[in-house]
Amino acid sequence: MEINPVKGTHDIIADEANLYTMIEHTAMMVASEFGYQEIRTPIIEHTPLFLRSVGESSDIVNKEMYTFDDKGGRSVTLRPELTAGIMRSIVSNKLHANADLPLKYRYVGPCFRYERPQAGRYRQFNQFGVEAIGAPGIYQDAEVITMGQRILLSVGLEDVKVLINSLGDEESRNAYRQALREFFSKHIDKMCSDCKRRLEQNPLRILDCKVPEDKEIIKDAPKMIDYLSPAAKAYLMSVIAILKSVGIETEIDPTLVRGLDYYTGVVFEYHFEKKEGIDDVGALGAGGHYANLLQEVGGPSLEGVGVAFGIERLAYIIKSQMQQNGIHFGLDFYLMGMTDDIIQKNFVLADMLREGGFSGEMNYSTKSMGAMFKVAARKGAKFAIIVGEDEIARKEVAVKNLKTQEQTIVKLEDLENVLHSMIDKYYADMNAAPTEEE
Ligand code: ATP
Ligand code: MG
Repeated sequence: MEINPVKGTHDIIADEANLYTMIEHTAMMVASEFGYQEIRTPIIEHTPLFLRSVGESSDIVNKEMYTFDDKGGRSVTLRPELTAGIMRSIVSNKLHANADLPLKYRYVGPCFRYERPQAGRYRQFNQFGVEAIGAPGIYQDAEVITMGQRILLSVGLEDVKVLINSLGDEESRNAYRQALREFFSKHIDKMCSDCKRRLEQNPLRILDCKVPEDKEIIKDAPKMIDYLSPAAKAYLMSVIAILKSVGIETEIDPTLVRGLDYYTGVVFEYHFEKKEGIDDVGALGAGGHYANLLQEVGGPSLEGVGVAFGIERLAYIIKSQMQQNGIHFGLDFYLMGMTDDIIQKNFVLADMLREGGFSGEMNYSTKSMGAMFKVAARKGAKFAIIVGEDEIARKEVAVKNLKTQEQTIVKLEDLENVLHSMIDKYYADMNAAPTEEE
């Protein structure tokens, strides 16, 4: 019997895994430039952690959690997100006690949500994110949004829109909930069963509904911005102004409420601008300010702000862009030799080139030229380096650009330098260089 992967899970193999590594590595580097330190927390946590943090009215708690009793009869849950576990870890390890505030952590790892699998939506997926706890205020919120934008730029995503909104303070939220309740009561018959539940539990959640017909109704709902207290509105405008000062344009989206109950104040999402041939996979990343979360899970009353990116969604967009631009992950060179004697010399040359920072492979048994070019193409090599008897005698090699088929004769002593500039030119010609660990 063939055993299939569990529905909603996926294997990440070869080039795709390279892409994930590149994204995670880049995100971690950018976050550390902003002063975030790594934290790794367990994948399983006690179920009440998520009930208290993510919240009873969220879709996650209502229907998406992988919850089960362990052999000792304790209810545990595979984490649907990482923020809650990080808050728990701060409390468990008293991290706030002897550190300068804010605490700043970055993380990456798998999450689990029992959702209907579709483009950009899996049951096991990976998130990268950061949390800053204990320095509430406009600059800290703006820092997290800026960092997120820098990550997107660093992985090669330029056409991104930053949507922003504020959930206000407790008072404005209550007034707004009341207004939503009144509005949606008139339309709820026509809306999905989730929205019916949301109307009872927390009408704010309705704004996050993804059902197209419901979205039409939601368009006319009262707007949070009209219910914000003057202080909350001024706060939002200040964050927007700080972002502008570092060149980040934002767009206020009055229906942006986020799917987790713990957000208060500023919330935001990053969206890839629609492009021909690239599916819309929803928000690439999202986050917001949370005033009470740490306290909810038994910690001190410290406010925080965080963001999380879905690595699968980033990988999908980057992969699509690379395909459109004809860029692929591949070797820098494939070194070809026709005789055993040359293969022996090539082994030393390949080693030298890898020392010089190039990636590459070579043939270990004699093959026809045609066969070797096929291998080089399959491996996605940018250049074939061809070494023949005549070339060896003249201390030269032939370097062939496998995309343009242009061939150049290069002196052995110049090979590293020439290869460097050829690779730079290779990317420049594609006019969108991938940011592969540069
Ligand atoms: P959505 O509105 O798309 O359901 P969400 O509000 O549930 O997203 P968050 O909980 O804020 O998302 O998670 C942050 C990021 O994690 C999302 O922006 C998205 O990129 C990613 N993400 C969330 N759920 C999934 C999933 N099931 N599969 C893949 N990525 C996901
Ligand atoms: Mg969701």
